[in-house]
Amino acid sequence: MPDPSTPQTLHENHGRYPQARTVADFRHNLAMVQTRIKSACHRVGRDPATVRLLPVSKTKPEECLRLAYTAGCRIFGENKVQEAQRKADALDDLADLRWSVIGHLQTNKARHVARFAHEFQALDSLRLAAALDRRLQTEGRSLDVFVQVNTSGEASKYGLSPSEVPAFLQALPAFSALQVRGLMTLARFSSNAEQVRPCFVMLRNLRDQLRQVAPNGIGLDELSMGMSGDFEMAIEEGATVVRVGQAIFGARATPDNYYWPDGAPA
Ligand SMILES: *Cc1c(COP(=O)(O)O)cnc(C)c1O
Repeated sequence: MPDPSTPQTLHENHGRYPQARTVADFRHNLAMVQTRIKSACHRVGRDPATVRLLPVSKTKPEECLRLAYTAGCRIFGENKVQEAQRKADALDDLADLRWSVIGHLQTNKARHVARFAHEFQALDSLRLAAALDRRLQTEGRSLDVFVQVNTSGEASKYGLSPSEVPAFLQALPAFSALQVRGLMTLARFSSNAEQVRPCFVMLRNLRDQLRQVAPNGIGLDELSMGMSGDFEMAIEEGATVVRVGQAIFGARATPDNYYWPDGAPA
């Protein structure tokens, strides 16, 4: 078993992280990830407090989420809305627990997200923005959102192309229940740094350019990028949110291409 605390190359431990089965396992894994976050920050002179860890609990059963909660997690990221809602209902007794939906959402499922989620990281169409806003107004709620950008150029990946983002942002102030926080991306899945780093750099550059022209009220402080196998590099390039599943919960049985096309092999 490789030591997950010191990956030498990108995605080296993909599919090999041991399952967390106790609160102590979760404490250990969270500490390990925080250590990796700190060393990445130190390498580039960033304050670790500027990086938020979003634990991603997809495929993991309710009991595991309870252990992670006891170990200190207060928000979970889920890729699929039905699974997220089922878990939110099951863990309803944990009053301070919040949910972030990080996967592609069909417009006809907007009402589910509007009901229970605190954050949505995969906004990629105005139809969806309108549907979410309408449902949120009805519920009397607001929602933190990230605009998903396709930085890898892979035709099958979700998200707006970088050139579509400026006009998209101009239209968002019309949806007053959506609190725009920043941009989100999934980098190319590769062990080759030269294929991965440009995705992170592209998202940061796009954010820096758009900051000058973004409409009032559209926040672009946040950059959600990086997962278990590449979050150090994402932090080096400016990530403020890293979405980490396997390194906290353990490897998943479900292959990644169930969650995003052309994902990592099983
Ligand atoms: C599953 C998932 C992650 C986390 O991936 P890990 O390899 O488990 O860290 C990050 N972002 C999205 C959108 C995901 O679906």
